[in-house]
Amino acid sequence: MILIGTTLGIGLFSEYNIAYKRGKPGSFKIALVYPSTYAASISNLFTHIAYYYLTQHDDIVVDRFTLDNPTKGAITGIPLKDFDVALISIGYELDLLYYIRILIKNFISPRKRDKRPILIAGGPPIIANPEPALDLFDGVFIGEGEALLEQLIRNIDVIDKPRQFTDNLELYHKDYPHPSIKKYFIRNLDNAFIPIHQIQSEKYEPIYGRGYIIEISRGCKWLCGFCMESHVFHPFRVRSLNIIERSMKLGIEANRVNRIIFYSLSFFDHPHSDKILKKLVEENIQFSLPSIRYNTLNKNRVDLIREGGQKTITIAPETLSERIGCELGKCIMKDHLNNLCSYILNSGLNLKLYFILGLPGDSPETDKLIAEFVKQLIEHSEIQRPNQIRLSINPLIPKPHTPTQYIPLIRKDAYLRRIKHLKKLRSIRVRLEYLDWRWAFAQAIISLGGRKTGELIIRWATEGTGLGALRKAIKELNYSTDYVFKPKEIDDPLPWDHVKLGTENIVRARGRKLLDLYLDQSETN
Ligand code: SF4
Repeated sequence: MILIGTTLGIGLFSEYNIAYKRGKPGSFKIALVYPSTYAASISNLFTHIAYYYLTQHDDIVVDRFTLDNPTKGAITGIPLKDFDVALISIGYELDLLYYIRILIKNFISPRKRDKRPILIAGGPPIIANPEPALDLFDGVFIGEGEALLEQLIRNIDVIDKPRQFTDNLELYHKDYPHPSIKKYFIRNLDNAFIPIHQIQSEKYEPIYGRGYIIEISRGCKWLCGFCMESHVFHPFRVRSLNIIERSMKLGIEANRVNRIIFYSLSFFDHPHSDKILKKLVEENIQFSLPSIRYNTLNKNRVDLIREGGQKTITIAPETLSERIGCELGKCIMKDHLNNLCSYILNSGLNLKLYFILGLPGDSPETDKLIAEFVKQLIEHSEIQRPNQIRLSINPLIPKPHTPTQYIPLIRKDAYLRRIKHLKKLRSIRVRLEYLDWRWAFAQAIISLGGRKTGELIIRWATEGTGLGALRKAIKELNYSTDYVFKPKEIDDPLPWDHVKLGTENIVRARGRKLLDLYLDQSETN
C-alpha cells in the first residue's frame, strides 16, 4: 500500500496518510459511509480499521462518505452510486435517520434491492436490535467489524453475483433462513487488525483532538444494567502489552502526533494499564482516557492522568442511591467517591459526572442525593474556577439486550420536573447539561422498535431530521409508541430475542431484580 498526502493534505478534507487509488474501470469499489459529521467519522476507530484494512488490497478502491460529503468520496470524488458495496457504520440509533438522508441525496431508494451499491450496516445498535434496520439495508452484520471485513475480502470474486455475494457474507436480512442468529466476534484481540496509519486531516480536528487512537481492550467485565456496549461487545478481552507498546510507537511516528487516545470501555481493567501510562509519562507523550469506572480509579491514577496532559476526568456514577447502584452493577461508596472527586478538583482538573434519571427505583428523592453530593464536594474542595464541576444528566434510554430493556422510558413531565430542581445547581457555578427528553424518546422508539420502525425512519427522514418531522411521521403512519412507556414482563417476547449475544441469562436475572425495583417504586408513587 502506498500512502500519499505525506507532505500536503489531499481531497475534500485535506487529508494525509491516504491510500489514493481511483482504480480502473471494473475495479471493485467499497464505500465507507459514516452518517454523521466528518469530524465524528475520523474520531471513530472503525473508520480507520476499515479504511486501511481494505486498502491493503491492491484491487480495491475505498472511499468515505459522511454528512459533510454525502454524495462524493472524500478522496476520489467518485459518486456513491458508482460503488459496488457500501458499509454503513451505525454508532447510535439516530444514525439510521441520517443514513436515509444520505441515500435521499444520492437518489438511492432504501427499498431498492436490485442496484448497486449493496448496502450493508453494522454497529452496536444494529447488533443489539437489527429489526428496525432490516428494511433499510440489503443485509446487516451481527458482529464485530473485523469479522465482516474478513468475510468481504474472501468473497470479492463473486461481487458480480450480488445475490451470492450477500449470501456468502453471513448477513442477517429479511429472508434469513434460521430462527436465531449468533454474534460473530474476534476471540483474541491480538489477532485483530490495528491501523498504524490513521486518517489525519489538516482542516478538521477529531472530536477528542489529534492523536493516535488505540483500543487496549474490548468489552467490559462489569456489564452494567443499562450499558448496551458492554453486552454487545461481550466477552471482555485485552490486547497484549507488547502489541500495544509496539503499535503506540509506530502509530506516533506514522501519524506525526505526540498523543495517544485510548478507546476502551473500562481502561483500568487492563492488567497493564498503569504500566502503559507510566511509560508514556516518562517519554513525555500525552494521552487521553475515556470515562473511568469509579472503583478502578485512585489518587495515583489521577496523578498519572494529570501528568499525561488530560484536563478533565469523567466519571459516571449514574446514581447515588446505593441500592439502585448495586443492582445496576455500579455500587458506589459515597464518601470514597467524594474524596476521590475532591482530590481531582484539588489537582486542578475538571470533573465531569454523569447521572441518569428514570432508573428503576429512583425518584425526586434520589435526585436530592446528587444535589447534596455536589454541595458537599464544593465545601470540601478547593474549587479553582467556575464550571470546574460539570454534570451531565440523561434519562435512562432502555436498550435491547440489557437488563433495563424491561423498564419504560421516564415520562416527559417527570423528567422535566426533576431537571428543573437539579438546574438550581447552576447557581453554585456548576455546569449542568441535560439531554432533551424528546431526543431520548426518539432514540427509544428506534432502540426498542420492531420491523415496522424501519418505515417510520424512512418517513421521518423524508420529512426532515427534526422533531417536527418525527411527530408528522408518527401521525401520518398512525404509529404507536406505547411500547416505549410500558414495562415488560421477563417472559414477554421482544423484537430482538432471536439475536444471541451470549449474555441472555445475565440479562434476565438482573432484569428481574430491576423490574421488581421499578414495580415497587411505581406502587409507592
Ligand atoms: S463500567 Fe462502564 S463500560 Fe463497563 S459496563 Fe459499566 S457502564 Fe459499561
